Amino acid sequence: MLPVVALLGRPNVGKSTLFNQLTRSRDALVADSPGLTRDRQYGIGRVGPRPFIVIDTGGIGEAERPVEELMEQQSLRALEEADIAIFVVDGRQGLTPADEQLARAFRKQSRTVLLAVNKAEGQSRDEVTAEFHALALGEPRAISATLGRGIQPLIEDALSHVPELEGEQGYNEDGIRVAVIGRPNVGKSTLINRWLGEERMVASDEPGTTRDAVRVPFSRDGQDYVLVDTAGVRRRARVHEYVEKLSVVKTLQAIEDANVVVALVDGSEGITDQDASIMGLALEAGRAMVVAVNKWDGIAPDRRERTKVELDLKLPFLGFAKQHFISAKHGTGVGELLGSVNEAWEAANRDLPTPVLTRALEDAVSRHAPPLIRGHRIKLRYAHQGGKNPPLIVIHGNQTERTPKAYRRYLENYFRQTFDLQGTPIQIEFRSTE
Ligand code: GDP
Ligand code: GDP
Repeated sequence: MLPVVALLGRPNVGKSTLFNQLTRSRDALVADSPGLTRDRQYGIGRVGPRPFIVIDTGGIGEAERPVEELMEQQSLRALEEADIAIFVVDGRQGLTPADEQLARAFRKQSRTVLLAVNKAEGQSRDEVTAEFHALALGEPRAISATLGRGIQPLIEDALSHVPELEGEQGYNEDGIRVAVIGRPNVGKSTLINRWLGEERMVASDEPGTTRDAVRVPFSRDGQDYVLVDTAGVRRRARVHEYVEKLSVVKTLQAIEDANVVVALVDGSEGITDQDASIMGLALEAGRAMVVAVNKWDGIAPDRRERTKVELDLKLPFLGFAKQHFISAKHGTGVGELLGSVNEAWEAANRDLPTPVLTRALEDAVSRHAPPLIRGHRIKLRYAHQGGKNPPLIVIHGNQTERTPKAYRRYLENYFRQTFDLQGTPIQIEFRSTE
């Protein structure tokens, strides 16, 4: 399971800037989507020796003026979720009483807290860090979040404090790893139970912490699967039913661990902002996906129509994923869902040879040429596959960096249709030869 790193500190010290550097978000989707806990932002950090989950307490005090107590409370709550924390302070502004107050609270914690002095560019390292020794949180490190300086060693150090669990890398189970994600109460456990059958449930009732991976293998129609996560698997064996709180950390861990993500929503309630936020996380990770709208039994026809419209309106970024309308409770459509899981995984790993890709590019361009930019036409010459899962298509030509977004979307759709790439996001990268 991924280590969890929390970014703590006063407003305006540069936590969000650092968060963006660490996550190198391909898309601003997560940041844009409302609905998740307003005081925290979650992403996958991709700087350093291994991926990790990063929690930003950036929203603190943005809406209301920061009450110092509130800031401390929220920092400590984020710290509870984390394996390690980075306490960010502002090297330009210098040490403030609020920093001292936070440091006092952190020193009482058992978690390791690394101290990062941000905005240190253009100043001598010793000078900028000197006064922060007073916080007694170890050697202060000088960084610049905007320039990306000092960040790699900081993260290497942070992650060295979190041991890699046995078997963390290179799982040897065979089968497509599937995660079912969604808000609490949309029917994740019911769906999982459908796939597994009753006996399996009891066997998987293991105690667990956030960093415990639960993996349950099963087979259907000759295909092997491994269910990852999953709170849902465990929960069924409990006597009392209750509605859980959404754990973003667990959801991210499941997404990261999965080959294919099944995005489950509750069709009787329609699509909520929280649904959109959760699905945005999976997209951000580049996962192959299938959308399943559950509780389709007993929904009135007008509600059905509304839900279908909402799917396109609120989850437009999941247009690449196949949609299924199911009843986990009655088992309707539950088997077909796995068929789409297979297809999505196959599409994510498809070989796209250069000649074939280039021919498709030529066809796309001849049907609909790229626009003129200041009298010059962008030339797209050939394409090759730069990676799989998700497929990365690299397009070579002249002035390709000027390709407008709309044309990029056109190409993406063209490739998707030509190569039948349903269920996987496609990345397109432009390279210029001059
Ligand atoms: P947060 O409230 O802690 O999340 O802080 P932000 O990331 O929103 O940054 C607050 C301000 O500090 C913004 O204007 C950033 O551009 C600026 N900032 C962030 N990192 C740096 C840095 O490394 N150097 C400088 N000079 N400014 C920075
Ligand atoms: P989870 O929190 O996402 O794991 O949701 P559960 O699987 O615990 O289901 C939440 C509630 O929705 C339970 O009362 C289920 O019986 C009910 N439920 C799940 N699937 C369906 C379905 O397909 N149709 C209907 N009508 N109810 C369902």
